[in-house]
Amino acid sequence: MFKFKGELYEGAHVPLMSKQLFDKCQEVMEERSSPTRKKKYTFPFRGYMKCGECGASITAEKQKDKYIYYHCTKRKGKCSQKFIEQKELANQILFSLSKIWINDATKDKIFDYYNDLLNKEENKLEKQRTQKKEELEKIKTMMSKLLDNFLYGIITEEEYKEKKQEFIERKVELEQKLEKIERGQCGWFELSKDVINTCNSISKAYEEKNNEELSKILQKTGSNFVLKNRQLTFSHRIPFDFISLNNCISNDYFKKESPFWGRCVGSFDNLFSENSKICLDWLWGWDSNF
Ligand SMILES: [Zn+2]
Repeated sequence: MFKFKGELYEGAHVPLMSKQLFDKCQEVMEERSSPTRKKKYTFPFRGYMKCGECGASITAEKQKDKYIYYHCTKRKGKCSQKFIEQKELANQILFSLSKIWINDATKDKIFDYYNDLLNKEENKLEKQRTQKKEELEKIKTMMSKLLDNFLYGIITEEEYKEKKQEFIERKVELEQKLEKIERGQCGWFELSKDVINTCNSISKAYEEKNNEELSKILQKTGSNFVLKNRQLTFSHRIPFDFISLNNCISNDYFKKESPFWGRCVGSFDNLFSENSKICLDWLWGWDSNF
């Protein structure tokens, strides 16, 4: 498929990229070639915080082309809350996210541990898979024998139909089980990996001073964002709440005036202590629509 003068043509060649990727490329190219498009300023932390006094939304504005302030829209009536500068808000967010931060070394150790679990599970699954496949073969053989018996007049048509139905049901059941084995294989690993990677990416967002990324991580890992008296509060989502409880971070490390990164532990105290292990195992087996 290719685009020529704005019209879409189906080429004779085998498509080298998916339609989705093609559309994405077109989008990017159009964006780049459009000189009229003005870069509109977006406020990274706007849109999901509520005022703790009146419950109205928190909005943002830029002043003197330099400072960004967040404040209550006051659309629900009288409210005495004052603004907060974006820099201060970002600091508070970093401070809170630090509780679920996982450093590189810890991330590697967790992944090693998960790879071991994955291998063990893979061995177990392989056994189940072989067993189910053998059962399936047996049923197929029995079904063909059944047909022979019917054709040679050893059994009646009624007997044949009844038995055949039984075999078909058993066959479908086995096929579904096999499918489940294939599907469930690395679901947990991918899920856990995503959680750990998200926690690990906090330091990168900080180092790059990337407030958009920080905001994404915040919304992915937290909920119920309330701003009151220039203080942001929220709760960690599952399973990040679990991580924050088990992550080894001494609160002494965090002083508002000093970035916490230099001295932050960002690891499970003793990664394979009973408590950390329970946390990691739980995360591994954790099932959700996250
Ligand atoms: Zn308010």
